[in-house]
Amino acid sequence: MGHQLVWFRNDLRVSDNPALYHACQQQNPVSAIYIATPEQWRDHDDADVKIDFWHRNLACLKNSLAELNIELHFFQVNNYQQVPNLISTICQQWDIERLHFNDEYPVNERFRDQQVMAVCGQISVEYQHYNDQLLLPPGSVRTKSDTPFKVFTPFSKQAKQQLEQSLYLYPAPIKQTAINVTTLTQASQLTELTWPIVSDDIKAFWPEGEQHAFARVAKFCRQPIRDYKQSRDIPSLGGTSRLSPYLASGIISVRQVWNASWQYCEPNDSVQTWQNELLWREFYKHILIDYPEVSRHKPWKPLTDNIDWRYDEQQLQAWQQGQTGFPLIDAAMRQLLARGWMHNRLRMVVAMFLSKHLLIDWRLGECWFMQQLIDGDLAANNGGWQWSASTGTDSVPYFRIFNPVTQSKRFDPQGTFIRHYVPELAHLSDKEIHMPSDANRPQNYPKPMVDLSDGRQRALAAFKLLATDSTI
Ligand SMILES: Cc1cc2nc3c(=O)[nH]c(=O)nc-3n(C[C@H](O)[C@H](O)[C@H](O)COP(=O)(O)OP(=O)(O)OC[C@H]3O[C@@H](n4cnc5c(N)ncnc54)[C@H](O)[C@@H]3O)c2cc1C
Repeated sequence: MGHQLVWFRNDLRVSDNPALYHACQQQNPVSAIYIATPEQWRDHDDADVKIDFWHRNLACLKNSLAELNIELHFFQVNNYQQVPNLISTICQQWDIERLHFNDEYPVNERFRDQQVMAVCGQISVEYQHYNDQLLLPPGSVRTKSDTPFKVFTPFSKQAKQQLEQSLYLYPAPIKQTAINVTTLTQASQLTELTWPIVSDDIKAFWPEGEQHAFARVAKFCRQPIRDYKQSRDIPSLGGTSRLSPYLASGIISVRQVWNASWQYCEPNDSVQTWQNELLWREFYKHILIDYPEVSRHKPWKPLTDNIDWRYDEQQLQAWQQGQTGFPLIDAAMRQLLARGWMHNRLRMVVAMFLSKHLLIDWRLGECWFMQQLIDGDLAANNGGWQWSASTGTDSVPYFRIFNPVTQSKRFDPQGTFIRHYVPELAHLSDKEIHMPSDANRPQNYPKPMVDLSDGRQRALAAFKLLATDSTI
């Protein structure tokens, strides 16, 4: 009898997994595959920390699936172009009746999946694919005139009307009858695939596994969520959930997270503020689907492509390495290097500094973030960068430019966060730490790389050239 094949991608979990659940319901034997594509990952600027996170989570997934008598087989090809042929070989040699997978939305992934479905058609293998990454399926949140929303607030209002407090979660998959499939020559052991090496420190900071993700969301939704509105902007407090790596790689589903936000405490302003962040995630994914050009390095506002962005390698590197001479920017960029993650308030501040005060092309910042982030996600990263650079949908007005020193005084008043990541400034007073005077600046700390007022004027002038268009 033909059997079912589950293709795992960005959904490295057993619970609430539509593709796995449906495959297990068919009462036919089930096998599972994961296909590593290292060249494609490099092309997409996926960070080493993120790829290592996949590696660690795949090991957990293999064990969890084994408890269901499902074997997870590993394959490696260079890129997405080679995937359809490989899947075709697997399906034919294993006598697969139906392939199941959860949708991914960026253009290259969609193109790959169309090719895979075409190949399945040719060899008479059925396929079923499912929405997994979104609270509401693509195309289902629409204006009254049936067009996509371009602005977050009306999108979120509409989405909230359509969302239940308790969303349907797929039941635990049924345990299967064990089967043996012939080992294909292409198959590898997990450890034989190409994995980057990352520090034990980062691994310990971001533990792998569904169980860990559940514990994290439950802990956050029992207490810290209640103070989220006040604490979310203070980087030294750790008042946010730090669930983004788990959501980005599908170690937990967004439905599970949404339900948890209603489950553990009375909804107050803080809870609603946090739910709004989940809706920002949702909004940017819907934008990516409705406006696929944002997947192709295009600004959402085409006119902003005419901005004469500067290219300055030295300044770009100083920003990347946390050596700009602006303590909060440097602390944030060093947090990114040390943790593979950065606090949301700081992501906005450093993105605006690069794209406005330095007038360096936001795409270079977007790329650097992807290369470093454990939670790198095309939709959210592109959305965040285009918001900060005022090139995106519903983005910050071009003349509202965060001043990194003012932001530092406001969101890190005692310099606690700066002292942690920029130890050479740790001895400075609460007043001096935000911008050390020439006399007090240690020799090993750089002078500010730009005059903030000049940088601001230069950015305003660049945007004003386009400002005949009222949408800028
Ligand atoms: C320039 C820039 C780049 C960004 N790049 C990414 C990225 O690559 N991947 C990513 O997941 N987020 C990105 N964000 C959004 C946000 O910074 C992170 O989601 C957040 O910092 C993750 O921390 P947390 O899990 O503690 O968030 P919490 O505050 O606990 O929020 C809960 C969840 O909501 C989602 N979320 C929160 N804020 C946003 C937002 N502004 N946009 C979209 N989703 C959001 C995340 O999935 C997050 O895990 C970016 C923001 C900016 C300004």
